[in-house]
Amino acid sequence: MGIRLVIVVIMLVVVYYLGKQVVRMLRGSGQSTDKPGAISAGMDLTQDPVCLTYVSKEKAISSHRDGETHYFCSEDCASEFENRAA
Ligand SMILES: [Zn+2]
Repeated sequence: MGIRLVIVVIMLVVVYYLGKQVVRMLRGSGQSTDKPGAISAGMDLTQDPVCLTYVSKEKAISSHRDGETHYFCSEDCASEFENRAA
């Protein structure tokens, strides 16, 4: 009976210790998620009208037509779009 009580106490200590570690990890990840959130907010995603891939406007190939700016993932999609419009 005495040994069981000791095991229960040890398990409680281990669970308490692990719980504190989990809380630390959650707090740590909570702080680190602020930065990726800011980065994703800064990335202006737009959809390639040809292949329907989402691309960031910074990296995308842009084409101006009829006062509108279209963004493409590659030159192939840009020329494909030009062919469709023609
Ligand atoms: Zn594309």
